[in-house]
Amino acid sequence: MTLLAIEQLDARHGLLQAVRDVSLVVDEGETVALVGANGAGKTTLLRTIAGAHRPVGGRIIFDGADLTGMPAHRRVRLGIALVPEGRRLFPDLTVEENLLTAIAAGRSGPWNVERVLEAFPLLRPLRKRQARLLSGGEQQATAIGRALMCNPRLLLLDELSLGLAPVAVDAVYSSVRSLIAAGTTIVLVEQDLSRAMAVASRIVCLLEGRVVLAGRTSELSRDQITTAYFGLHHGVGRESA
Ligand code: ATP
Repeated sequence: MTLLAIEQLDARHGLLQAVRDVSLVVDEGETVALVGANGAGKTTLLRTIAGAHRPVGGRIIFDGADLTGMPAHRRVRLGIALVPEGRRLFPDLTVEENLLTAIAAGRSGPWNVERVLEAFPLLRPLRKRQARLLSGGEQQATAIGRALMCNPRLLLLDELSLGLAPVAVDAVYSSVRSLIAAGTTIVLVEQDLSRAMAVASRIVCLLEGRVVLAGRTSELSRDQITTAYFGLHHGVGRESA
């Protein structure tokens, strides 16, 4: 079943058009990775889906409803949760307090502090520690946990591995894999192609704001994706949705 449909989306930063005529569909239970070079428009696209950035054209349909003009907090209530680039935790609040901040914003459902600590065992001994005292990996786990506390139907993950040591990235991705196995629908932005290909069922490659390649991970070669990523050969394997 289609959970998210993006139709001909355009988004700008002032005069700069960061997202151009992007159409894509995310089915329930799918993990879609947005890949592309720096400045390709991945973060802008993710923030536009979350309602943190207003598009100038196109539509965002979630579970059949048109969200295009809807503010971010109402999208959270419908089940869209964003883990932003840079994590944006409350530095003076503890891990547990950061998790609890999400309750008022989100939906009711199975996720609570105990369940987040089960999903991210590294956080259990740290639940009373202030976020500013955590390592990058621990902060990232807390940020994902906070999004899960909203009981999302769609989880948007922006650059989970940014600034993390490889061992921390492994730990964070191992938790993400458990979420995927449990059927969570995820759209993630990932610069590391190997990581993206390892977790995503579908890859969407952006170049200068446009979708230049989209397809099932199992049907795309690394060469095809790299070629699209760097804009060496526009249109290879291009999908219309
Ligand atoms: P990165 O991996 O570097 O985050 P990205 O693919 O996520 O790149 P975006 O961050 O969406 O790309 O940026 C798309 C374009 O929009 C870039 O040219 C960028 O410089 C520009 N841009 C992004 N944020 C802003 C902003 N707040 N103000 C002005 N221009 C911006």
